Amino acid sequence: PTANTRKPDWLRVKLPIGEKYTNVRKIVDEYKLHTICQSGNCPNMGECWGEGTATFMILGNVCTRSCTFCAVATGRPPEYDEDEPRRVAEAIRLMKVKHAVITSVNRDELKDKGAEIWYQTVRAVKESTPQTTIETLIPDTKGNWDALIRMIEAGQEVVSHNMETVASLYRYVRPQAKYERSLEQIQRTKDFGKRTKSGIMLGLGEKQDEVFKAMDDLVAHGLDVLTLGQYLQPTKMHHEVIEWIHPDTFAMYKEEGLKRGLAYVESGALVRSSYHAERHI
Ligand code: SF4
Ligand code: SF4
Repeated sequence: PTANTRKPDWLRVKLPIGEKYTNVRKIVDEYKLHTICQSGNCPNMGECWGEGTATFMILGNVCTRSCTFCAVATGRPPEYDEDEPRRVAEAIRLMKVKHAVITSVNRDELKDKGAEIWYQTVRAVKESTPQTTIETLIPDTKGNWDALIRMIEAGQEVVSHNMETVASLYRYVRPQAKYERSLEQIQRTKDFGKRTKSGIMLGLGEKQDEVFKAMDDLVAHGLDVLTLGQYLQPTKMHHEVIEWIHPDTFAMYKEEGLKRGLAYVESGALVRSSYHAERHI
């Protein structure tokens, strides 16, 4: 079954306008940076960029993986850009971001999975604007736990890793990932002493019991902050929207998450892992 393709009213968003929006666009272009806001066709661009914030995507804009929900191009990425950490830090300084969110593509072909560039980027931001708090939304390191530690030891306050969906849908949604391995990564991140965060998209065909099970698994693996949002299909080639989740259901999931012991749950149709991120550092 698939959802009626017409989007429900609660998914309507603000149009991108205003001085701050234009300023963010200018800096992103000038510093030749990528953002997941643009690469992921995020519906919140009007709001976030209008407030002067964006989520930078480092290590290029070509990913070695092919998650079926994701609009980022799959392929063999070119050499990474060693100057990127400096430019990201400079853009964050110019944008006067209080809480910076940084993510990346997967670079499975690199021995260190891109960990060194991750480390350099966080260090560069901390050196350039020490008052800026940093949230890193990191890829799975395929069980390379040394790479994981390098990615998270540069001083960022929050480390996020998205589960994206429930266990039964992994093979259709994240074919190169493993549910248990992602849980282990979150546990190891928590054990290292970081505030942990994860996100799940809804409307991909998951059942409510499976969402509760994912919450239980995340609590058992040391998760602090969970985001739940409506999946939107970027193109007809991507995974279909199976269901439009009602706002009341998002509210119910929030209650359930908090009851289960999560410190913070951001749940709503337009919630993305970087949406209102500054609220739950
Ligand atoms: Fe960018 Fe995240 Fe805002 Fe979307 S929610 S526009 S990805 S910062
Ligand atoms: Fe997209 Fe991340 Fe999957 Fe790559 S690993 S296809 S960037 S969701």
